[in-house]
Amino acid sequence: MKEQKIWLSPPHMGGSELKYIQNAFDTNWISQYGSNIDEFEECLENYLGNNSFVTALSSGTAAIHLALKLLNVEEGDIVICQSFTFVATANPILYLKAVPVFVDSEADTWNMCPNALEDAIKSSLQKGKKPKAIITVSLYGMPFKADEILEISRKYEVPVIEDSAEALGSRYKGQLSGTFGDLSVISFNGNKIITTSGGGILVSKNEDYKNRALFLATQAKENKEYYSHSEQGYNYRISNILAGIGIGQMEILNERIDQKRQNHDFYREKIAQIENIELFSEPDDDFYSNYWLNTILIKKESGTSKEEVRKKFSENNIETRYLWKPMHLQPLYCAYDFFGNDLSGTLFDNGLCLPSGTNLTEGCKDRIAKVLENLW
Ligand SMILES: *Cc1c(COP(=O)(O)O)cnc(C)c1O
Repeated sequence: MKEQKIWLSPPHMGGSELKYIQNAFDTNWISQYGSNIDEFEECLENYLGNNSFVTALSSGTAAIHLALKLLNVEEGDIVICQSFTFVATANPILYLKAVPVFVDSEADTWNMCPNALEDAIKSSLQKGKKPKAIITVSLYGMPFKADEILEISRKYEVPVIEDSAEALGSRYKGQLSGTFGDLSVISFNGNKIITTSGGGILVSKNEDYKNRALFLATQAKENKEYYSHSEQGYNYRISNILAGIGIGQMEILNERIDQKRQNHDFYREKIAQIENIELFSEPDDDFYSNYWLNTILIKKESGTSKEEVRKKFSENNIETRYLWKPMHLQPLYCAYDFFGNDLSGTLFDNGLCLPSGTNLTEGCKDRIAKVLENLW
Protein backbone atom coordinates (compact mmCIF):
# COMPACT_ATOMS: atom_id res chain seq x y z
CA MET A 1 0.00 0.00 0.00
CA LYS A 2 1.29 3.44 -0.92
CA GLU A 3 1.86 5.69 2.05
CA GLN A 4 -0.12 8.90 2.32
CA LYS A 5 1.23 11.87 0.39
CA ILE A 6 3.20 14.42 2.36
CA TRP A 7 2.54 17.86 0.89
CA LEU A 8 4.77 20.89 0.95
CA SER A 9 2.44 23.21 2.87
CA PRO A 10 -1.22 22.16 2.90
CA PRO A 11 -4.08 24.17 4.45
CA HIS A 12 -4.64 23.44 8.14
CA MET A 13 -7.99 24.44 9.61
CA GLY A 14 -8.31 25.23 13.30
CA GLY A 15 -11.94 24.15 13.77
CA SER A 16 -13.87 27.38 14.30
CA GLU A 17 -13.82 28.53 10.65
CA LEU A 18 -17.19 26.90 9.85
CA LYS A 19 -18.86 28.82 12.67
CA TYR A 20 -18.04 32.12 10.95
CA ILE A 21 -19.08 30.79 7.55
CA GLN A 22 -22.36 29.67 9.13
CA ASN A 23 -22.83 33.19 10.42
CA ALA A 24 -22.51 34.54 6.86
CA PHE A 25 -25.20 32.06 5.77
CA ASP A 26 -27.47 32.79 8.74
CA THR A 27 -27.38 36.52 8.09
CA ASN A 28 -27.44 35.99 4.29
CA TRP A 29 -24.35 38.16 3.74
CA ILE A 30 -23.15 35.92 0.90
CA SER A 31 -21.47 38.94 -0.52
CA GLN A 32 -18.46 41.20 -0.61
CA TYR A 33 -19.98 43.04 2.37
CA GLY A 34 -20.64 41.79 5.87
CA SER A 35 -19.46 41.56 9.44
CA ASN A 36 -16.87 38.84 8.79
CA ILE A 37 -14.92 41.23 6.57
CA ASP A 38 -14.98 44.00 9.17
CA GLU A 39 -14.00 41.58 11.92
CA PHE A 40 -11.20 40.00 9.86
CA GLU A 41 -9.70 43.42 9.14
CA GLU A 42 -9.98 44.45 12.79
CA CYS A 43 -8.35 41.21 13.89
CA LEU A 44 -5.39 41.86 11.58
CA GLU A 45 -5.09 45.52 12.58
CA ASN A 46 -4.89 44.48 16.24
CA TYR A 47 -2.39 41.74 15.48
CA LEU A 48 -0.08 43.87 13.33
CA GLY A 49 -0.26 46.95 15.59
CA ASN A 50 1.98 49.88 14.57
CA ASN A 51 -1.10 51.94 13.53
CA SER A 52 -1.76 49.59 10.64
CA PHE A 53 -4.81 50.02 8.42
CA VAL A 54 -5.87 46.80 6.71
CA THR A 55 -7.91 46.32 3.52
CA ALA A 56 -8.99 42.73 2.88
CA LEU A 57 -8.86 41.73 -0.78
CA SER A 58 -9.37 38.76 -3.09
CA SER A 59 -5.63 37.95 -3.28
CA GLY A 60 -2.14 39.06 -2.43
CA THR A 61 -1.57 39.77 -6.11
CA ALA A 62 -4.53 42.18 -6.09
CA ALA A 63 -2.98 43.88 -3.05
CA ILE A 64 0.34 44.41 -4.89
CA HIS A 65 -1.54 45.77 -7.90
CA LEU A 66 -3.45 48.25 -5.72
CA ALA A 67 -0.27 49.22 -3.83
CA LEU A 68 1.29 50.25 -7.16
CA LYS A 69 -1.91 52.16 -8.07
CA LEU A 70 -1.82 54.00 -4.71
CA LEU A 71 1.74 55.10 -5.49
CA ASN A 72 0.53 56.39 -8.87
CA VAL A 73 2.60 53.98 -10.95
CA GLU A 74 1.76 54.51 -14.60
CA GLU A 75 2.83 53.39 -18.05
CA GLY A 76 6.61 53.72 -18.54
CA ASP A 77 7.42 54.24 -14.84
CA ILE A 78 10.29 52.26 -13.31
CA VAL A 79 9.54 49.90 -10.44
CA ILE A 80 12.46 48.16 -8.72
CA CYS A 81 11.66 44.59 -7.73
CA GLN A 82 13.40 41.71 -5.97
CA SER A 83 14.28 39.12 -8.60
CA PHE A 84 14.21 36.08 -6.31
CA THR A 85 10.47 35.66 -5.74
CA PHE A 86 7.22 34.16 -6.97
CA VAL A 87 6.03 35.73 -10.22
CA ALA A 88 3.03 37.36 -8.50
CA THR A 89 5.37 39.98 -7.02
CA ALA A 90 6.31 41.28 -10.46
CA ASN A 91 3.24 40.73 -12.64
CA PRO A 92 1.27 43.76 -11.37
CA ILE A 93 4.11 45.98 -12.66
CA LEU A 94 3.25 44.75 -16.15
CA TYR A 95 -0.51 45.09 -15.53
CA LEU A 96 0.20 48.83 -15.34
CA LYS A 97 2.60 48.82 -18.33
CA ALA A 98 5.36 50.01 -16.01
CA VAL A 99 8.95 48.80 -16.39
CA PRO A 100 10.44 46.38 -13.84
CA VAL A 101 14.11 46.59 -12.88
CA PHE A 102 15.24 43.50 -11.01
CA VAL A 103 17.61 43.36 -8.05
CA ASP A 104 19.52 40.31 -6.81
CA SER A 105 19.50 38.79 -3.33
CA GLU A 106 22.11 38.86 -0.60
CA ALA A 107 23.42 35.71 1.08
CA ASP A 108 22.21 36.31 4.67
CA THR A 109 18.48 36.60 4.04
CA TRP A 110 18.07 35.63 0.37
CA ASN A 111 16.20 38.92 0.06
CA MET A 112 16.98 42.19 -1.71
CA CYS A 113 20.66 43.11 -1.61
CA PRO A 114 20.96 46.73 -0.37
CA ASN A 115 24.07 47.43 -2.48
CA ALA A 116 22.50 46.16 -5.69
CA LEU A 117 19.37 48.17 -4.86
CA GLU A 118 21.39 51.36 -4.60
CA ASP A 119 23.13 50.57 -7.91
CA ALA A 120 19.73 50.10 -9.55
CA ILE A 121 18.41 53.41 -8.23
CA LYS A 122 21.54 55.32 -9.28
CA SER A 123 21.44 53.84 -12.76
CA SER A 124 17.81 54.80 -13.11
CA LEU A 125 18.52 58.36 -11.93
CA GLN A 126 21.39 58.65 -14.42
CA LYS A 127 18.91 57.91 -17.16
CA GLY A 128 16.80 60.77 -15.84
CA LYS A 129 14.08 58.56 -14.36
CA LYS A 130 13.35 58.33 -10.66
CA PRO A 131 11.90 54.92 -9.76
CA LYS A 132 8.33 55.09 -8.49
CA ALA A 133 8.57 52.20 -6.01
CA ILE A 134 10.75 49.43 -4.58
CA ILE A 135 9.14 46.02 -4.05
CA THR A 136 10.98 44.00 -1.40
CA VAL A 137 10.07 40.44 -0.44
CA SER A 138 10.34 38.40 2.78
CA LEU A 139 11.05 35.13 1.02
CA TYR A 140 10.06 31.83 2.64
CA GLY A 141 9.15 33.86 5.74
CA MET A 142 12.60 35.39 6.27
CA PRO A 143 12.33 39.14 6.91
CA PHE A 144 14.30 41.42 4.59
CA LYS A 145 16.99 43.74 6.01
CA ALA A 146 14.51 46.51 6.75
CA ASP A 147 16.97 48.96 8.35
CA GLU A 148 19.23 49.07 5.32
CA ILE A 149 16.54 48.93 2.66
CA LEU A 150 14.40 51.62 4.34
CA GLU A 151 17.44 53.88 4.74
CA ILE A 152 18.03 53.72 0.98
CA SER A 153 14.31 54.29 0.38
CA ARG A 154 14.44 57.46 2.51
CA LYS A 155 17.73 58.65 1.01
CA TYR A 156 16.37 58.56 -2.54
CA GLU A 157 12.74 59.20 -1.57
CA VAL A 158 11.42 56.09 -3.29
CA PRO A 159 8.60 54.36 -1.34
CA VAL A 160 8.74 50.67 -0.38
CA ILE A 161 6.07 48.07 -1.07
CA GLU A 162 6.75 45.17 1.29
CA ASP A 163 5.69 41.84 -0.21
CA SER A 164 5.40 39.78 2.96
CA ALA A 165 2.91 37.43 1.33
CA GLU A 166 4.80 34.49 2.90
CA ALA A 167 5.81 36.13 6.17
CA LEU A 168 2.79 36.66 8.43
CA GLY A 169 4.11 36.37 12.00
CA SER A 170 7.78 36.89 11.12
CA ARG A 171 9.70 39.66 12.86
CA TYR A 172 12.74 41.86 12.25
CA LYS A 173 14.24 43.36 15.43
CA GLY A 174 10.98 42.47 17.16
CA GLN A 175 8.70 44.25 14.66
CA LEU A 176 6.19 42.21 12.66
CA SER A 177 6.61 41.68 8.93
CA GLY A 178 3.88 43.53 7.04
CA THR A 179 4.45 46.73 9.00
CA PHE A 180 7.66 48.02 7.39
CA GLY A 181 6.60 49.14 3.95
CA ASP A 182 4.87 52.38 3.04
CA LEU A 183 2.43 49.74 1.83
CA SER A 184 2.66 46.06 2.72
CA VAL A 185 1.07 42.89 1.43
CA ILE A 186 0.20 39.56 3.07
CA SER A 187 -1.39 36.60 1.25
CA PHE A 188 -3.92 34.06 2.48
CA ASN A 189 -3.59 31.73 -0.50
CA GLY A 190 -4.11 28.03 0.22
CA ASN A 191 -0.41 27.27 0.65
CA LYS A 192 0.44 30.12 3.06
CA ILE A 193 0.87 29.81 6.85
CA ILE A 194 -2.82 30.55 7.35
CA THR A 195 -5.37 30.72 4.57
CA THR A 196 -8.78 31.93 3.44
CA SER A 197 -8.44 29.55 0.43
CA GLY A 198 -7.72 32.67 -1.59
CA GLY A 199 -7.26 36.17 -0.25
CA GLY A 200 -4.83 38.88 0.73
CA ILE A 201 -4.51 42.16 2.56
CA LEU A 202 -3.04 45.55 1.86
CA VAL A 203 -1.55 47.19 4.95
CA SER A 204 -0.97 50.93 5.13
CA LYS A 205 -0.02 53.51 7.70
CA ASN A 206 -2.72 55.98 6.86
CA GLU A 207 -6.45 55.84 6.52
CA ASP A 208 -6.50 57.71 3.21
CA TYR A 209 -4.63 54.83 1.59
CA LYS A 210 -7.12 52.37 3.07
CA ASN A 211 -10.11 54.36 1.80
CA ARG A 212 -8.60 54.72 -1.65
CA ALA A 213 -7.74 50.98 -1.80
CA LEU A 214 -11.31 50.14 -0.83
CA PHE A 215 -12.64 52.50 -3.51
CA LEU A 216 -10.44 50.98 -6.24
CA ALA A 217 -11.22 47.42 -5.08
CA THR A 218 -14.97 47.98 -5.43
CA GLN A 219 -15.12 49.18 -9.06
CA ALA A 220 -14.28 52.80 -8.18
CA LYS A 221 -17.97 53.42 -7.62
CA GLU A 222 -18.55 56.94 -6.41
CA ASN A 223 -20.73 57.72 -3.43
CA LYS A 224 -23.86 58.73 -5.34
CA GLU A 225 -27.43 57.53 -5.72
CA TYR A 226 -26.67 56.09 -9.17
CA TYR A 227 -23.69 54.28 -10.71
CA SER A 228 -21.15 56.99 -11.35
CA HIS A 229 -17.54 56.23 -12.32
CA SER A 230 -14.77 58.69 -13.18
CA GLU A 231 -11.89 56.25 -12.76
CA GLN A 232 -11.07 52.68 -13.66
CA GLY A 233 -11.54 50.34 -10.72
CA TYR A 234 -11.31 46.62 -9.99
CA ASN A 235 -13.38 43.85 -8.45
CA TYR A 236 -10.83 42.97 -5.76
CA ARG A 237 -12.78 42.85 -2.48
CA ILE A 238 -12.69 39.64 -0.41
CA SER A 239 -15.89 37.64 0.06
CA ASN A 240 -17.65 37.68 3.44
CA ILE A 241 -17.54 33.87 3.44
CA LEU A 242 -13.77 33.69 2.94
CA ALA A 243 -13.21 36.41 5.54
CA GLY A 244 -14.98 34.03 7.95
CA ILE A 245 -12.32 31.41 7.32
CA GLY A 246 -9.74 34.11 7.98
CA ILE A 247 -11.16 35.01 11.42
CA GLY A 248 -11.05 31.35 12.42
CA GLN A 249 -7.50 31.00 11.14
CA MET A 250 -6.31 34.10 13.02
CA GLU A 251 -7.36 32.41 16.28
CA ILE A 252 -4.69 29.74 15.79
CA LEU A 253 -1.98 31.79 14.05
CA ASN A 254 0.40 31.69 17.03
CA GLU A 255 0.02 27.92 17.24
CA ARG A 256 0.82 27.64 13.51
CA ILE A 257 3.97 29.77 13.90
CA ASP A 258 5.11 27.48 16.74
CA GLN A 259 4.46 24.43 14.57
CA LYS A 260 6.39 25.90 11.63
CA ARG A 261 9.30 26.69 13.92
CA GLN A 262 9.21 23.18 15.37
CA ASN A 263 9.49 21.83 11.82
CA HIS A 264 12.58 23.96 11.41
CA ASP A 265 14.07 22.57 14.64
CA PHE A 266 13.42 19.06 13.34
CA TYR A 267 15.26 19.80 10.09
CA ARG A 268 18.11 21.55 11.89
CA GLU A 269 18.78 18.54 14.10
CA LYS A 270 18.48 16.09 11.24
CA ILE A 271 20.50 18.02 8.68
CA ALA A 272 23.32 18.74 11.15
CA GLN A 273 24.13 15.03 10.85
CA ILE A 274 24.14 15.00 7.05
CA GLU A 275 27.10 16.12 5.01
CA ASN A 276 26.71 18.28 1.93
CA ILE A 277 23.34 19.78 2.79
CA GLU A 278 22.87 23.20 4.28
CA LEU A 279 19.60 24.33 5.87
CA PHE A 280 18.66 27.98 5.37
CA SER A 281 18.19 29.57 8.83
CA GLU A 282 17.96 32.96 10.54
CA PRO A 283 21.33 34.76 10.17
CA ASP A 284 21.18 36.19 13.73
CA ASP A 285 18.86 37.31 16.53
CA ASP A 286 17.55 40.30 14.57
CA PHE A 287 15.58 37.84 12.44
CA TYR A 288 12.60 35.77 13.55
CA SER A 289 11.18 33.72 10.68
CA ASN A 290 7.78 32.03 10.55
CA TYR A 291 9.66 29.38 8.52
CA TRP A 292 6.79 29.16 6.08
CA LEU A 293 8.92 26.78 4.03
CA ASN A 294 12.16 25.07 5.03
CA THR A 295 14.75 25.22 2.27
CA ILE A 296 18.07 23.48 1.72
CA LEU A 297 21.08 23.96 -0.51
CA ILE A 298 22.75 20.84 -1.87
CA LYS A 299 26.50 21.28 -2.07
CA LYS A 300 28.37 20.56 -5.29
CA GLU A 301 30.62 18.07 -3.39
CA SER A 302 27.65 15.77 -2.89
CA GLY A 303 27.90 14.78 -6.55
CA THR A 304 24.12 14.85 -6.82
CA SER A 305 21.57 17.40 -7.98
CA LYS A 306 18.36 18.95 -6.70
CA GLU A 307 16.48 16.86 -9.26
CA GLU A 308 17.96 13.61 -7.91
CA VAL A 309 17.00 14.60 -4.38
CA ARG A 310 13.52 15.66 -5.49
CA LYS A 311 13.05 12.28 -7.17
CA LYS A 312 14.08 10.37 -4.05
CA PHE A 313 11.45 12.19 -2.02
CA SER A 314 8.90 11.74 -4.77
CA GLU A 315 9.48 7.96 -4.84
CA ASN A 316 8.38 8.00 -1.21
CA ASN A 317 5.28 10.06 -2.02
CA ILE A 318 6.79 13.18 -0.45
CA GLU A 319 6.44 16.50 -2.23
CA THR A 320 9.45 18.81 -2.50
CA ARG A 321 9.94 21.70 -4.91
CA TYR A 322 12.64 23.78 -6.51
CA LEU A 323 13.15 27.26 -5.10
CA TRP A 324 11.45 30.12 -6.93
CA LYS A 325 13.15 30.68 -10.26
CA PRO A 326 14.38 34.29 -10.21
CA MET A 327 12.57 36.75 -12.45
CA HIS A 328 15.73 37.80 -14.34
CA LEU A 329 15.98 34.17 -15.56
CA GLN A 330 12.33 33.90 -16.62
CA PRO A 331 11.42 34.09 -20.33
CA LEU A 332 8.78 36.70 -19.41
CA TYR A 333 11.25 38.99 -17.65
CA CYS A 334 14.82 38.26 -18.80
CA ALA A 335 14.92 41.25 -21.18
CA TYR A 336 14.58 43.77 -18.33
CA ASP A 337 17.52 45.29 -16.43
CA PHE A 338 19.03 43.28 -13.60
CA PHE A 339 21.46 44.42 -10.89
CA GLY A 340 23.59 41.96 -8.92
CA ASN A 341 25.87 38.96 -9.29
CA ASP A 342 23.29 36.24 -9.85
CA LEU A 343 23.47 34.86 -6.31
CA SER A 344 19.77 34.06 -6.66
CA GLY A 345 20.52 32.04 -9.79
CA THR A 346 23.01 29.95 -7.81
CA LEU A 347 20.49 29.45 -5.03
CA PHE A 348 17.93 28.34 -7.61
CA ASP A 349 20.41 25.88 -9.13
CA ASN A 350 21.17 24.16 -5.83
CA GLY A 351 18.10 24.62 -3.67
CA LEU A 352 15.03 22.64 -2.69
CA CYS A 353 11.95 23.33 -0.52
CA LEU A 354 11.11 20.57 1.96
CA PRO A 355 7.71 19.63 3.40
CA SER A 356 6.79 22.25 5.99
CA GLY A 357 3.12 21.70 6.78
CA THR A 358 1.93 22.61 10.26
CA ASN A 359 0.19 19.24 10.38
CA LEU A 360 3.35 17.14 9.88
CA THR A 361 3.06 14.19 12.29
CA GLU A 362 5.95 12.37 13.95
CA GLY A 363 5.30 9.59 11.42
CA CYS A 364 5.71 12.05 8.54
CA LYS A 365 8.93 13.36 10.05
CA ASP A 366 10.28 9.81 10.33
CA ARG A 367 9.59 9.20 6.65
CA ILE A 368 11.30 12.47 5.67
CA ALA A 369 14.26 11.69 7.95
CA LYS A 370 14.69 8.30 6.34
CA VAL A 371 14.96 9.81 2.87
CA LEU A 372 17.44 12.41 4.09
CA GLU A 373 19.59 9.74 5.73
CA ASN A 374 19.74 7.69 2.54
CA LEU A 375 20.50 10.35 -0.05
CA TRP A 376 24.07 9.17 -0.67
C1 LIG B 1 1.75 33.85 -2.65
C2 LIG B 1 2.59 35.00 -3.03
C3 LIG B 1 2.06 36.13 -3.66
C4 LIG B 1 0.67 36.21 -4.20
O1 LIG B 1 -0.35 36.01 -3.30
P1 LIG B 1 -1.76 35.44 -3.85
O2 LIG B 1 -2.63 35.63 -2.65
O3 LIG B 1 -1.55 34.02 -4.22
O4 LIG B 1 -2.17 36.28 -4.99
C5 LIG B 1 2.88 37.22 -3.88
N1 LIG B 1 4.18 37.20 -3.54
C6 LIG B 1 4.74 36.13 -2.95
C7 LIG B 1 6.18 36.18 -2.58
C8 LIG B 1 3.97 34.98 -2.71
O5 LIG B 1 4.54 33.90 -2.18
